[in-house]
Amino acid sequence: MRFDTLAQHGGYDPKEHRGHRSEPIYVGVAPVQPDSETARRVFVGEEEGIIYPRFGTENSRMVEKRLALLEGGEAAETFATGLAAINCMLFALTKPKDIVVVQERIYGGTTQSLKVFFSDRRVIFVKDMNDLDELSQKTKGLRPKFVFTEILSNPTLDVLDVKKLAEFSRRNKAKLVVDSTFATPVLSRPLEFGADIVIHSTTKFINIENMGGIVIGQKSDVQMVHEAAKFYGATCSQYDLKETLKGIRFLPIKVRRQSETALEIARFLSRHRAIKQVYYPGLPNSRNYYLAKKYLPDGCGGMLAFETHGTGKDTKNFIDTLALISNVVNLGSTWSNVTYPQETTHSILDPETRLSSGITETFVRFSTGLEDADDLLEDLDQALRKISN
Ligand code: PLP
Repeated sequence: MRFDTLAQHGGYDPKEHRGHRSEPIYVGVAPVQPDSETARRVFVGEEEGIIYPRFGTENSRMVEKRLALLEGGEAAETFATGLAAINCMLFALTKPKDIVVVQERIYGGTTQSLKVFFSDRRVIFVKDMNDLDELSQKTKGLRPKFVFTEILSNPTLDVLDVKKLAEFSRRNKAKLVVDSTFATPVLSRPLEFGADIVIHSTTKFINIENMGGIVIGQKSDVQMVHEAAKFYGATCSQYDLKETLKGIRFLPIKVRRQSETALEIARFLSRHRAIKQVYYPGLPNSRNYYLAKKYLPDGCGGMLAFETHGTGKDTKNFIDTLALISNVVNLGSTWSNVTYPQETTHSILDPETRLSSGITETFVRFSTGLEDADDLLEDLDQALRKISN
């Protein structure tokens, strides 16, 4: 099956579910075991089966199979949130004192979690993961165990050179983990470029209305994550998993359209006199343009960011003047929204790290929905008058 067909049918056979064409929701916490020996084997993982929701359910297996197929991975493990997926994966695959190399410009919640909950690991932050000199210098004489990055970084939309970093990781016998939340498998599949593990916050483009997370990779790694997940306890609800399955069906068509509209908005903003800088790798003047051509050849996704002229107060005024476009901290939905990272998603970072990550007081993140592009441009234009006048 090809990609778009896998998004509809991958990993699900109606014959195994009483002929239901749409995936049923399996609710309940007490599947009866046929006999004691089966109960023992399923509980310890010697046999595949359903014994207790924290150990896996019919619905979690459907999502895991389908997203693993779409990403080109062997196996997957679902979680209640994206951050649960990241945390549990790190607990499962690293030990105290292990060296974890992390991109500085990523989602603030991931950075904060690494700083607070993984302080017994040695976490090394790297400003520009594509700069092998910086990477080699910061890891000189050390043996990194893990390299963690985002293929399209939140919120500055840097594109990661996955192949280069995969080579670096292989030389060091480290695992390369790529958070591909902003790209989705529709636009890029990091495992094909040499990454070992792919992470998604499915709360974003994949599910859109409910929370979830997933770790995808080789069977051996995912098995370890699965064993940890049984006791980590951040199990995704059956309803959210059902929504995820629905979300995946619409994902290809949605993300391609979001990419087209985002490019139109990026072009419009880059010509607007109230705008200082636009961050969108699909623009030819972006420093990420050539990497985007390589890793995101079919479009750069629905996320973009920009800095306005004026002060932080002007920028907040602009946000508050938007009529159609809402102020929401989530992203990837079917409606468009803006976020003010300095005071929300990245407020947790210390001001120095935030500034060196490019998040200034006039920085705005934009998530493109499925509205008519002209309505979005009109709303942006009327609100930007707050700045240009
Ligand atoms: N990864 C990225 C790129 C994100 O933007 C986020 C949240 O915004 C996460 C991970 C965490 O996901 P969740 O909010 O589902 O825990």
